[in-house]
Amino acid sequence: MAITGTAQHQAWRHKTLPPVEQLRPDLWSIPVPIPHNPLRYVSVHAFAVPGGISLLDTGWESEEGWAALTGGLAAIGADVTDVRGVLITHLHFDHLGLAARVRKASGAWVAMHPADAELVVSWNARDGAAAVAAEIEFLVGLGAHRADAVADVGPPEAMERFTRMAAPDRLLADGDLADLPGWALRAVHTPGHTPGHLCFTEERTGLFFSGDHVLPRISPHISTRAEGDDDPLRAFLSSLAAVRGRPATEVLPAHEWRFTGLAERVDELTDHHEQRLAELLAAIHAHPHSTPWDLAAHLTWSRPWSSYERRMRIFAVTETDAHLRLLASRGLVVPSGTTVPTWTAAVR
Ligand SMILES: [Zn+2]
Repeated sequence: MAITGTAQHQAWRHKTLPPVEQLRPDLWSIPVPIPHNPLRYVSVHAFAVPGGISLLDTGWESEEGWAALTGGLAAIGADVTDVRGVLITHLHFDHLGLAARVRKASGAWVAMHPADAELVVSWNARDGAAAVAAEIEFLVGLGAHRADAVADVGPPEAMERFTRMAAPDRLLADGDLADLPGWALRAVHTPGHTPGHLCFTEERTGLFFSGDHVLPRISPHISTRAEGDDDPLRAFLSSLAAVRGRPATEVLPAHEWRFTGLAERVDELTDHHEQRLAELLAAIHAHPHSTPWDLAAHLTWSRPWSSYERRMRIFAVTETDAHLRLLASRGLVVPSGTTVPTWTAAVR
């Protein structure tokens, strides 16, 4: 792998925001900050199209984010009212969050994959208290004490703040060409991080816009959800295998920095999850009949497990659950226990 986004990489080392960059005569990256988050920013990509600009992702919805996005557009000689279309890699708040505001200011269309669109529409329609109750039941079903689940999920206002976002005007399925005149930007469905995650391959230049599917340093969060995903880690690993052989001249991720060496990075991410699966299997051998909640405590994390709480703990437990489901679908573990869901190694 080689780092091509050197200004982005340097900014990460110095814990600053990278500059707006012109990547091609008709393509720019605009960093939009994510407040209080170690990822620090999402890279919004801006494409020149006849009579305006089209965006890939929009950024975390906040006044600071809006100022960065509109300021970035001004820096490249455009205005937010010039935006014609918005492509969305996936429904997370750091990607879709500002889309509603961009659409309101410009009249642009917003496009995403049907699987994520369906979730956004259902989130917008649901009752906040009912959504919180469902999330609590989901965590209790993974072995959480009810009091921990209630504390971790938090109040309905917090959940609504980050799940009410723009429903799309257009849908993009795998293989569809995006409506960006002058570009040959094709959607690549890469489920795993979310059910409808899209990468985009630009067939004229060979650029590969990887969203959160392939990031150069961190591995994207793969988790089960209250809404149910059969086996998101299996989906993610096959989505990785599916993009591995693409002849990408450069990878432009939504976080961190641009790089070359897509296949190498895919192999690293795959190895990371295989190691994690092995670690989890060993934990199940050492602690049979454990719940996902308890097994999470037996894995190594970037910080001491006892310091985990709230969203961090939900991420860790649902990620553990995603690994459990893949071990189960490989026939390596089986559910045990009747009332409390626990796991044990399969008899081979
Ligand atoms: Zn993201």
